Amino acid sequence: MSQVSHLVGTTCPFLRILAKQLVTGGGTSLLARNAALLSEKCPHLLQHGDSPQDVLAQLSKQLNEDGHVGTNAIPSTSSSFPASSSSSFSFPASHNASPENARCAGGTSCAVPGCANSREHESPKLKAVSGITSSSVNQMASSSSPSRSITSERYEKSFASVVSSIQSEGRYRVFADLERKAGEFPKALFHQNSGESTPPIFNQSGNKNSAIDSSTSTREVTGWCSNDYLGMGQHSSVLAAMVRSIYSCGAGAGGTRNISGTNHHHILLERELASLHSVEAALSFTSGYVANEAVLATLPKIIPGLIIFSDAGNHSSMIEGMRLGRAPRYIYRHNDLSHLEELLEQHGGGMDTPKLIAFESVNSMEGTVAPLNKICDLADKYGAMTFIDEVHAVGLYGDTGGGVSERDNCSSRLTFITGTLAKAYGVQGGYVAGSAAMIDAIRSTAAGFIFSTALAPSLAAGATASVKHLKSSQVERAVMHARAYQLKLLLHSNGLPMLPSESHIVPVLVGNASKAKAATDHLSRKHGIYVQPINYPTVPRGTERLRLTPSPFHTKEMLYEIVAALIDVWKTLDLPFCTTMASDSVPPGAVYPYNGPKLPSLHMALAQDDVLISQLVSGLGVPKYRKQLKMSMENLSVSSDDRVAEVAKGGCL
Ligand code: PLP
Repeated sequence: MSQVSHLVGTTCPFLRILAKQLVTGGGTSLLARNAALLSEKCPHLLQHGDSPQDVLAQLSKQLNEDGHVGTNAIPSTSSSFPASSSSSFSFPASHNASPENARCAGGTSCAVPGCANSREHESPKLKAVSGITSSSVNQMASSSSPSRSITSERYEKSFASVVSSIQSEGRYRVFADLERKAGEFPKALFHQNSGESTPPIFNQSGNKNSAIDSSTSTREVTGWCSNDYLGMGQHSSVLAAMVRSIYSCGAGAGGTRNISGTNHHHILLERELASLHSVEAALSFTSGYVANEAVLATLPKIIPGLIIFSDAGNHSSMIEGMRLGRAPRYIYRHNDLSHLEELLEQHGGGMDTPKLIAFESVNSMEGTVAPLNKICDLADKYGAMTFIDEVHAVGLYGDTGGGVSERDNCSSRLTFITGTLAKAYGVQGGYVAGSAAMIDAIRSTAAGFIFSTALAPSLAAGATASVKHLKSSQVERAVMHARAYQLKLLLHSNGLPMLPSESHIVPVLVGNASKAKAATDHLSRKHGIYVQPINYPTVPRGTERLRLTPSPFHTKEMLYEIVAALIDVWKTLDLPFCTTMASDSVPPGAVYPYNGPKLPSLHMALAQDDVLISQLVSGLGVPKYRKQLKMSMENLSVSSDDRVAEVAKGGCL
């Protein structure tokens, strides 16, 4: 008979979970009840003629001897899935039902939270890239007597070959060594090592390698790509709240929320977030990424048979969550509601089939805004739930910062609202908000929530202060929108190929990874402007871009500076302009098909600046800003696809 410790440890998630339940007090009757299921779940364990009872007896014996079942615990809450209660074994229902999960019995993959195999979901991609397979790794490990250095050299080669293939495409990522300066946003200190093209290299004792890093000078740069959209990361009320909580509660949360990590600051934050979205409850996570991934991965287990309809532009955190959840998924073209409806008709399975439509309100790379109420209409028509990522909208849209759902008055029509505390709120963390029953279910089952140490109390306190501030203050978001509007006018009138964003995000198309990198190096070295190039896989190849995010702290002079710098970059790198240069006013119809009211001239828009801002500060300018924003949105009606196609052809619209 096989060794049970081996069986438990590596090949049969069913057995692992059963073992865990035995250890946590399931009793021997659990063994008897599950003997029949064993042959279905783990047929390979019975290959040598052992009966299920034999294997389970071995398991019981092994547990008595070892007193543990390995390192990957599963949530004790798994027994709370309603659909699984009829089965003697408490797998989540979808685990039993889905064909993909049925493969779990063969030991290849498993979607159960905490299952040992869940890490394998990523491995095929890595193996394919690196050229290392598990058998070659095993060979390396067991071959006669390879010295440690030869073995690690082989791995090192694999790491290096992945990087060199990324480099050859010109999309090697360099993280600038920046030091933000509190109180001087958007300025930062740029630490220059051997040049912008190489990452800092550290020697074995952790110090920067001085042979490579001979120059350690710093210079000041103006940041134009921060997601701290409103500079709240330096707001005095946020800093004060964080410092106070560090001195009152200490540094870390002290554990997962399940164990000892729930802190009063988490409760206060979650109340504030529920009230922000006018919903019953909210749950905080360690990041927006984790919130999206954890909720979407868990949903198909809570709602067996779920079918997901996902926008093509969705963020990787949503995609990874949906992949982990393994529900059937249909992808509709970005914000294309006729395509969504077509898919709902064809694959939705009727009103009674559980469905979810998943999308972002503001798309982070295109700057487009989803038509929320129309999506909710479709959800009502086809009996679907809705999942909205408001990561690039919370704090920025709506009268209290509740996002596009607040602006469009449809928070109550949405099932799941996720957001981040790291962008407009300037701190860190993520959340999901919605009904109390939904939050309770996620809290009880989502692995990304259960098994990760809670947010540090200081982060929760800082985020609470930021949310509270932006609930009542309009100034930051209003001035930020005014700046975005002005920047769009300036880029537009100078023929720089801006993608038609409807939001505060201003993408400027380059269309080539190496040139996007060269453009940002030039901006940094010659003009003291820091912008990160956006390359594949963040955006499709051929649509590489600079993504500008004006804040309320970017002055009128800074707007002029960046536009002049971009003109210089475009000329230096011989990138295509879209219109004749240096026009003073926006030429309606000359570039974009435009039928709306006449836009103000650039001089007018910028001369109004100080007046506008003082009006905004006193709250009087808000309706005016809305009107301006609406006009700018109407004006930018060319689709990104058209713009990309034109630039690819070497021309411009
Ligand atoms: N959703 C979208 C659309 C994002 O762009 C991002 C991050 O950039 C996230 C989620 C993740 O949020 P966080 O940065 O809080 O992890």
